Amino acid sequence: MRLPTITDVLHARQLLRPLLSPTPLSAYPALDAATGAKVRVKHENVQPTGAFKVRGGLNLLASLDPAERARGVLGYSTGNHAQSLAYAAAHHGVPCTIVMPERPNPAKARAVRDLGAELIEYGERFDESRAHAETVAAERGMRLVSAANEPAIIAGVATAYVELFEQAPGLDVVLVPAGSGTGAAAAALVAAALAPDCEVIAVQSSAAPAAHDSWRAGELVDRPNRTAAEGLATGSGFALTQRLLRAGLTDFLLVEDAEIARAQRLFLRAAHTVAEGAGAAALAALVANRDRFAGRSVAVVCSGGNASEAELNSMGRAAPIG
Ligand SMILES: *Cc1c(COP(=O)(O)O)cnc(C)c1O
Repeated sequence: MRLPTITDVLHARQLLRPLLSPTPLSAYPALDAATGAKVRVKHENVQPTGAFKVRGGLNLLASLDPAERARGVLGYSTGNHAQSLAYAAAHHGVPCTIVMPERPNPAKARAVRDLGAELIEYGERFDESRAHAETVAAERGMRLVSAANEPAIIAGVATAYVELFEQAPGLDVVLVPAGSGTGAAAAALVAAALAPDCEVIAVQSSAAPAAHDSWRAGELVDRPNRTAAEGLATGSGFALTQRLLRAGLTDFLLVEDAEIARAQRLFLRAAHTVAEGAGAAALAALVANRDRFAGRSVAVVCSGGNASEAELNSMGRAAPIG
């Protein structure tokens, strides 16, 4: 598979410019006080689908040929990749089917149906949905869209980091939540070209550490997948993103789900921001590694805001930070 390049990213940026507004990069004194760093939040939670993934979906759909468009796309996802594909398919008038694990986040499932996509609920976990998606796509002749092994998705996602380095040229560090690794791989790709002095650090949940462990091992590994943060919930490393991470990632950190819940509460209090679990993982890593980042200029990516109702109800009950 071809690795995406910075040229692909700049093409994607031109293509997405009329479709998506740049997302804000915001500072909050209360976040600086709570973390000891100079924090900037990249607000991907304000995307039309509530997560950064729409950048990748729109860029991928634009790259399909007419025959592929006519047959449609099929994706598997715990939610935000699904919404991204459904949104992009609706925009391009392409049929779309999504396979989600059974009992998905109801808000994400509803959003997919509201965007006009067909939803199939199958499997206990993401990895079973993935196998079923491969079968259905083969039966129907639809284009199976991987969550991560897609150069066009990574190039689209990477437009967030072109924006980021324009908005904050002197950043020391960017902390990126990682599941399949497209966001972190995209950040590493763009930083290498536009901000080579900026560290790119990925963050995953210790309850689903497959991407982290694959990076540390230097090979694709499978791991238990038990995190409550849907966006980070994958049981295996992905080849394409791991190649990019190996080339450009500075470090990879793990945080506990309980730390993520506390960071969601901090986002609410200090930044008036509703982050879903995955969307708060970068902030959780900043809090958990306070000494390492103290006084430095750090961007945390709030990758998504699609918290379920249950998550919203529990947010105020996490132990407070600061
Ligand atoms: C998908 C997702 C992530 C992880 O992104 P990957 O590209 O899979 O590493 C993080 N946060 C949110 C909100 C997501 O939807």
